[in-house]
Amino acid sequence: MPNAKSLAIRPEGRRTKGRSRRESNNTLAYSRTQARATVQCAWCGRRFDSTDEYLTGRVRCAGCGVATTSPWPSDEQLSAAYADWYRPESGRFSGLGDKVLRRTRSALADRLHRVLPPGPVLDVGAGDGPLVDAFVRHGRDAVGLEPHASGPHIRNAEVEDVDGNWSAVMATLLSPGGRLVIAVPNATSLQARVFGDRWLALDLPRHLVHLSPPALLSKVEALGLRVERVSYMRGGQVVFGWVHGFVGKLPGHPDLYDAIRRSEARQATYSPVLRLYALTAAVAALPFALAATAVEVAARSGGTIYIEARREPAPEKIPVI
Ligand SMILES: [Zn+2]
Repeated sequence: MPNAKSLAIRPEGRRTKGRSRRESNNTLAYSRTQARATVQCAWCGRRFDSTDEYLTGRVRCAGCGVATTSPWPSDEQLSAAYADWYRPESGRFSGLGDKVLRRTRSALADRLHRVLPPGPVLDVGAGDGPLVDAFVRHGRDAVGLEPHASGPHIRNAEVEDVDGNWSAVMATLLSPGGRLVIAVPNATSLQARVFGDRWLALDLPRHLVHLSPPALLSKVEALGLRVERVSYMRGGQVVFGWVHGFVGKLPGHPDLYDAIRRSEARQATYSPVLRLYALTAAVAALPFALAATAVEVAARSGGTIYIEARREPAPEKIPVI
């Protein structure tokens, strides 16, 4: 992958746009940023030309099918997008939201802890660390990487800055037999196509590279890993993507993700009436969301793609020449 800094030419003195209070949709708000378009695919490195697909806030590469956020956000914009309001220490979600998030991450950690070889786990893009915390509760060493977060097991670093031998995660850092586990939004999923610029997981400018399953799987295999499990059913996230999308289609485009967050963690101010409108609509949308989830998972086009791959164990004897 090319260095992020090479992806866009940034004019000097560009004004950084703050988060808009009038436009609650991240993608649409971000797409109004005045800056030069991204010039190169972040996934395959191809330079964009007239054959690529220019979408709101992103460009889809004609070569590999992966979309790159455009314009590429400046460091200041990313810092603003991940500022304290995004993940307050009190938690992100109101009601049971934070508990549900921790419970689903805990179930994933339980499963992985059983199948992984002994050793530490590296979680790249760890957020505020619910998965890392769940591994630590199993007595495993675990480190999360998240450039704009903090926590006892979170490092403010990029994966290129890390070395060592890990039982799970990044390819070149994996022990022989170690697993690479990836769960990322599927930018070619049914829900991504139905909801377009308002799809929850586009999440500009925090999400920079918008992957398709074939691009991800071929890269993992090219790294010499054997893909052992592919799943499109990451329950909560896939269903929530549909509920969020249906609610966002209503008049006024209520943002359900914002509405369920704690007041200090919201992007825009919400009146209690608007919040009640969004939450009531969510309840009404749930049966349709469950049906849509069943369809997209059956079509292997779910809103999230989850992969487990394994680095082949090293040969027992290294031949001496
Ligand atoms: Zn590409």
